[in-house]
Amino acid sequence: MTAASTARTDALRALTIPRHLLPADGRFGSGPSRIRAEQMESLRSVSATVLGTSHRQAPVKDLVARVRSGLSELFALPEGYEVVLGNGGSTAFWDVAVFGLIEKRSQHLVLGEFSQKFASESAGAPHLAEPEVLRANPGEVPQAVASAEVDAYAWPHNETSTGVMIPVARPDGAGDGQLVLVDATSVAGAASVDITQTDAYYFAPQKAFASDGGLWLSVLSPAAIERAERLGQDSSRWIPSFLSLTSAIDNSRKDQTLNTPAVATLVLLAEQIDWILAQGGLAWADERTRTTSGMLQSWAERREEITPFVADPAARSQVVTTLDVDESIDATAITSLLRAHGVVDIEPYRKLGRNQLRIATFPAVDVEDVASLIEVLDHVLDSTADA
Ligand SMILES: *Cc1c(COP(=O)(O)O)cnc(C)c1O
Repeated sequence: MTAASTARTDALRALTIPRHLLPADGRFGSGPSRIRAEQMESLRSVSATVLGTSHRQAPVKDLVARVRSGLSELFALPEGYEVVLGNGGSTAFWDVAVFGLIEKRSQHLVLGEFSQKFASESAGAPHLAEPEVLRANPGEVPQAVASAEVDAYAWPHNETSTGVMIPVARPDGAGDGQLVLVDATSVAGAASVDITQTDAYYFAPQKAFASDGGLWLSVLSPAAIERAERLGQDSSRWIPSFLSLTSAIDNSRKDQTLNTPAVATLVLLAEQIDWILAQGGLAWADERTRTTSGMLQSWAERREEITPFVADPAARSQVVTTLDVDESIDATAITSLLRAHGVVDIEPYRKLGRNQLRIATFPAVDVEDVASLIEVLDHVLDSTADA
């Protein structure tokens, strides 16, 4: 049981939020996240020419080419870097990396659920040594430490479960033969990044790219491609064909995937990449998500019932804002009330188990909608304060 006041919970359950306060689009989830109406329009417009046609023919291959070249432009790909993709989402890419990028031993920063999952995959792989794991409490940031014992470093650019962002920079003293694998699933396309600091900057399309799930995409450095090719030729290492990075590289160079991709996901993704580019690229997206997340942080400063979960302002995510609610108020009653009014997916990450709101501000989330959400939350808190 929480320490929440029953009277206040009852008042929250009974409240009706005036319609004029509600945001035009009530989706604030951390993924799958809101898809813009224009993206859905484009899906309809290609419904007869691309959807339902062969993924080995020009219309779908052109779409894959559009995604790959759009991402190359968005991330200002350095010489020799390539955009590679495959089926299965970021979760599949962890296994792709375990087979095709980590040679003997990896180092993992673990600071929440997603970073833990990759570390567990690596720890469970019989062909790899026990990984070095550097942990921090949820809401805090561990530091990567150069180690001669590892051939790959792994951390999330944004830990979606806690709303912590980590800088993307090679650890001081990291050697040439050591790869940097960055899980950018929830922040790629929303924040500036220097791709030269990474060897695999990987993500899935259902978060900042406002598409649907099921694909992984990874920007690979020449060193990562070289590692994948070398490990792929090592006959002592069994690599399942679905998880073969060399096969994904070969297929991507032909603008296709090993097996059938979700074509609609590619259409929505291509539209969002082109839209971000048209708005001003990554610099624009970075500025926008700093603005919208900053609005939520300032709101938290204004409200005594609300405290940012991530204590260090420098570690707060610009795409996933986690806000603790005072224990006298049941946060679940707030999220349920908002859900009943069409404002959805601001519940905290389930395993974190906190009295919290978690609000995503991906590039597709308008400034006006965040302003409306804040008005709604003010209304909800103010009108039940005396209960
Ligand atoms: C959502 C998420 C994942 C999992 O992505 P899937 O495409 O569902 O496998 C992995 N890492 C991070 C940081 C995420 O936010």
